[in-house]
Parts: sequence; structure tokens; C-alpha cells
Amino acid sequence: MNAIAQPLIRHDWTRDEILALFNLPFNDLMFQAQTVHRRFFDPNQVQVSTLCSIKTGACPEDCKYCPQSARYDTGLERERLMAVEKVLEEARAAKASGATRFCMGAAWRSPKSRDMGPVLDMVREVKALGLETCMTLGMLDAEQAKQLADVGLDYYNHNLDTSPEYYGEVITTRTYQDRLETLDNVRKAGMKVCCGGIVGMGEEQTDRAGLLQQLATMPDHPESVPINMLVRVAGTPFGENEELDAFEFVRTVAVARILMPKSHVRLSAGREEMNEQMQALAFLAGANSIFYGEKLLTTANPEASKDMQLFKRLGIEPESRAVHAEEDPVEADVAQSLEETRHDRFFYNAAK
Ligand code: SF4
Repeated sequence: MNAIAQPLIRHDWTRDEILALFNLPFNDLMFQAQTVHRRFFDPNQVQVSTLCSIKTGACPEDCKYCPQSARYDTGLERERLMAVEKVLEEARAAKASGATRFCMGAAWRSPKSRDMGPVLDMVREVKALGLETCMTLGMLDAEQAKQLADVGLDYYNHNLDTSPEYYGEVITTRTYQDRLETLDNVRKAGMKVCCGGIVGMGEEQTDRAGLLQQLATMPDHPESVPINMLVRVAGTPFGENEELDAFEFVRTVAVARILMPKSHVRLSAGREEMNEQMQALAFLAGANSIFYGEKLLTTANPEASKDMQLFKRLGIEPESRAVHAEEDPVEADVAQSLEETRHDRFFYNAAK
């Protein structure tokens, strides 16, 4: 099968077609993914986001991979909703480090009405710094999605996690349909969608294909597709899972790239356990977004300076937001600040 001969943007992928991609010889798959990638992106740029946990732990849900679930004893310290000013401090630091997007995550089943006021303030204030904003707060109803869109939230993250068939092995406290409804509410409110999943949870390849099929057959592909490698946290039901073969992870990234050519495919949780060679292969497979910073919600993230040293060795630059100075002075200011920090902070000071 030659996926390159097909129209590049499709929404009708079948499971068999996707499995056929997974099972291509590795070099053929990488070539296809890289070819598609170059049609839509600069292959030497990677978008950089920073993630901040605005409310940690004590989540009532039972996601079997998650140290934030109140059901598992992982030694995680619970934290209440962070004050807006503290979030802003983190956002300023992220901006100074060159992040273009600031993602705020709260361990909730869904936000309560009393939470919405501070959360909306966070979006307004972080945006005022000139950063793109993203939030992940659990399930949203249509009204909550509208409130977030009205204050200008750019992205909402809500992952499907796995295939519909394997989903029940991972979470029982909310359904796949619940997740699809939240995603629908986010889309209808006009926000961009960040949606992906986790591999290495004991699923079969057909489940990885099934997850990607769900994403790639949406009427609009998610703008951002995080592909997480399970972080095996002791105390969670998946803490002792077998490690997924590194090449299978890279294959998943490559297939995501081919199925959703215009989306940013993000290397998310689990990157710390990947060596540099594997990360480089994932970039070659079409991953073009990472989380940058010392913590990825509650699991350690490779140290920021290490990331920038790897970027330098691979000739990768952080992606700027595509802006024209005359169109938006705030965004132009961000682009300028990125330009300044890119060389000073990322590259020259990276080894300090
Ligand atoms: S993944 Fe999210 S919803 Fe599931 S337990 Fe963790 S914080 Fe809660």
C-alpha cells in the first residue's frame, strides 16, 4: 500500500489500513512519515509547551495509569487549586524559557462551578502575557466549554487514552462516549483540540491503531496529538507493566503523523525514559512538539537544558508562533522574546 498516493488529509481511515501502516518495514514507514511531515511543517522545528499542574492529586477517577487518582497509594502530595498569582509566576518563567504555550492541568473529574472563576482568571491573565493557553480540567459541559472559549482559551486537552475496545481495561469511572462528548463541546465552543493517548498500557497493536483511527476519523483532526508512553508509577495498577518496545512507540508516532498530517504530534509523558536516540527517531517519525520543563504534571520530565542540548545536536529549533509584527503587537513581542532567548538561553547557556 502506498499512503503517499492517497489524498494527504483523510477522515475515512479504516483499521486495516492503519494496521498496514504499522506493519510496514520500519524504514518505509519512517520515509512515508517524514515525507508527509515535510509537506506541512519545517522538519527542523519543534513546538515547545510548558505544563503546570494547577491542582494536584485526589482525583476521584480510576485511570489505572495515573498517580493522581485518589484510589492509589503513590505517595503523591495533594495540592489544592493554585492561586492565580502563583500560576502567573510559573507562566512568566515558562515564557522566559522560550515556551510558546502554557498548559494548565487540574486533577478533576470535571470542574465545579466554584472552580470556574479562578480558572477563567488564569486563562485571561496568562493570555495577557502573550502565551497561548491550554487547559485540561476533565470533562466539560457545553456551558463550561463556552465560558473557557469566551475568555480566549486556545486549546483544551482531553485524551481518549486508547481504543474504544481496550478502554474498559483502563478506566471505569467515565465512558468513551463521555470523552467524545467533552471533545464535541470543546469543538463546538470554537477551541482547538489537544487529544491523544497513552501506549504501553498492555494494549495490543490493534488498540493503538484503534486510538489513532478514532482521532483521524474526527471531522476535524485534533490540532495537537499527544502520544504518551506509559510512565509506570509504583502504586498504580499499571506500575508493573511490561515496557513497550521502543520501535513500536516510534511506529505509533509515525502512523499518527501520516494519518493527521497537519497536527502537531507531541512527545509527552514518558519522554524521560526515552534515550536521546529514541527521541531523535521520534522527531524523524514526525513528532514536532514536546513539553519542556522539569515536571510533566507529576512525573519528572527530562531537564530543560538537556532538551535544548539535544535540539542543538540535532539542529532543531523551537518553533515560533507564526506572527506578523504589524498584525499583533503582543504576539510580535513574544516572537521577539523567543528570538532573543533561543540563542542566549537555550543554546549558549544550556550546558551551564
Ligand atoms: S488521568 Fe486525569 S481524570 Fe484520570 S485519575 Fe488522573 S487526574 Fe484523574
